[in-house]
Amino acid sequence: MLKDLPTQPDTSALPAEVEVLPRGLEQKRSSTGYVGRFAPSPTGPLHFGSLVTALGSYLDARLHQGQWLLRIEDIDTPRCQPEATENILNALLALGMQWDGPIVYQSLRTSAYQMAFDVLLAEDRVYGCCCTRKEIADSLLPQQHADTPVYPGTCRQGLPPGKEARAWRMRTNDTPIHWCDFAYGKQQETLAQTVGDFVLKRADGLWAYQLAVVVDDAETGITHIVRGADLMTSTARQVYLQHSLQYPTPQYWHLPLVLAEDGEKLSKQNGAQALDMRHPIKLLNRALEHFGLAPVRARKLENFWPRALEQWAMYRSAVGGWL
Ligand SMILES: [Zn+2]
Repeated sequence: MLKDLPTQPDTSALPAEVEVLPRGLEQKRSSTGYVGRFAPSPTGPLHFGSLVTALGSYLDARLHQGQWLLRIEDIDTPRCQPEATENILNALLALGMQWDGPIVYQSLRTSAYQMAFDVLLAEDRVYGCCCTRKEIADSLLPQQHADTPVYPGTCRQGLPPGKEARAWRMRTNDTPIHWCDFAYGKQQETLAQTVGDFVLKRADGLWAYQLAVVVDDAETGITHIVRGADLMTSTARQVYLQHSLQYPTPQYWHLPLVLAEDGEKLSKQNGAQALDMRHPIKLLNRALEHFGLAPVRARKLENFWPRALEQWAMYRSAVGGWL
């Protein structure tokens, strides 16, 4: 992992006049040890729900004099819009939210995901699966039908003769996964009961979100994950992958979601509006209000941020503590 790299490149063999560039990834080291991140999917422009997550993760990183990394989760290429990344970057800059270090694009990281996958494959932790969605649905008991059914393990012991793997699944087991959330406290989940053996490489050849996130968080040295509460249900799978790949587990804080009028999570799918960037402080204050914090009276962004940090420190101490 990157954190194990030497802090200085070995320059002893180079002629004195050669300038040695610092290792780019060393920029991500934080003087306080806190490394956070914001990881939007470029499936549309930045909307209010993602602004809230960006603000929470940004304030928490800045409060700790930590690093705030930006990762563009463009792994699900069919759903991504090329212009959305630019919109998100411009929106963050217009709001005064400058990230640290180089941007990580998941679409450029497939070889890293392959390496992690190969480790798991060599340890027989993954297996090929030939089932179609319909076959999985047909093999379930009526009471097992749900939005995301538990995979019944059809291909666990090997593919039927003449069948080829469509997707690759991670073996789960009955050992409960434990993790802690800053706001929600101790969590426990038994993956064999909640999701079953889950997909790491999809039938369309794309890497699954769970694997990409875990590899990226580990390789960029993320220590604190502050993100939307919709990802609570992904956390046990990610912790399980961290254990399986011998990665450290970061600390988690899942923030309250912004809901749409229909009560669902506000998202690009249910018509979240692109943000009006002409009034950045107004937008940021709306996001503070989402956390129940008083708006900051400021005309300039440079005056907004120090007071927003004070608000965040109060919010943080009211919400909980790392367990
Ligand atoms: Zn199968």
